[in-house]
Amino acid sequence: MTLEINKLKQLEQMIAEADNITLCTHQSPDADTIGSALALHNILLQLGKKATVVCPNTAPDFLSWMPNIDNILVNDKEGRKVNEAIAKADLLFAMDFNAPHRTGNVEKAMLESTAKKVLIDHHLFPDEEYFDLMFSFPTKSSTSELLFDILYNTSYKKFINKEIAVNIFVGIMTDTGSFAYSCDEPETFEVAAKLIRYGVKVKEIHDIVFNNNSKERLHILGLGINDNLHVFEDKKAVYISFSKEELSQFGDKEGLTEGIVNYGLSIKGIDFAALLTEKGDKIKISFRSKKDFNVNAFAREHFEGGGHFNAAGGKSFLSLKETEQKLEKLISKFEV
Ligand code: 5GP
Ligand code: MN
Repeated sequence: MTLEINKLKQLEQMIAEADNITLCTHQSPDADTIGSALALHNILLQLGKKATVVCPNTAPDFLSWMPNIDNILVNDKEGRKVNEAIAKADLLFAMDFNAPHRTGNVEKAMLESTAKKVLIDHHLFPDEEYFDLMFSFPTKSSTSELLFDILYNTSYKKFINKEIAVNIFVGIMTDTGSFAYSCDEPETFEVAAKLIRYGVKVKEIHDIVFNNNSKERLHILGLGINDNLHVFEDKKAVYISFSKEELSQFGDKEGLTEGIVNYGLSIKGIDFAALLTEKGDKIKISFRSKKDFNVNAFAREHFEGGGHFNAAGGKSFLSLKETEQKLEKLISKFEV
């Protein structure tokens, strides 16, 4: 991947000219969106800028330790402040998402904003109309890795510190499932090595992220695997689903079912896995795949979604039962 020098210069100039800068994460935030936003925020503060990170909803508990996470304004809790931060911004960053609708309850403010808009992201098919400057690299492991490349190749390199390195490392580690996928390029590991030189402690971070489950998370995983797993061996497909009642039985906290979809994909011979969760008036769906099964296209075509080639998400406004039936019908047509 090569970053164009003139684009980097343009970015530096846009930042130099801006007075109020707002960085936005996607809804249902993960470590990549939060880590990259907090890392860039840290740089902007060191530059003496007025900068704010806004997030549509609260991050899951297992990320609550991330350096400076308390600096984030969460729309669900402080909607007025979030709207103000977006309205007064003259420069807006989209971190780890590529279209305003991915910010959910913040979308309206994003659309009304007159700020210059910069995209830093690794999802397929960005909304080119919306952005003034785009760093869109779908082959990158994560937005965090991409941000590191940007920082390392600009005058901002001197501001990279341990907090920034930790936030960037968490984003890369989680988006690659602990360096297991989306990291076939040596660059990802070269960046990781540099981050370790800035003081990242790998085991500590791994422990705090992955060995930090609530018992509710293990219990719902048990339910999912024991009772709610639908396997279509001849189609190399599985799905797991949870009703609203099942989710609330286990507290339905943000991040409760995070990662469960991967257990479906861990079954030998399975190339397609989905996780359906009944949330409010809709069914949220996560898709994961192996090999050449393009779940980004599948989510776009059938479930108003998108994402990456092997990891995507979508939604359905049918009932849970009807959504399951729709998915089963689509699975029955898989050609394997
Ligand atoms: P997850 O299953 O972890 O929620 O999402 C997997 C990937 O798909 C993430 O990179 C996420 O940003 C993307 N994604 C999830 N839901 C949607 C959606 O509704 N629309 C689009 N365009 N992308 C999504
Ligand atoms: Mn990401």
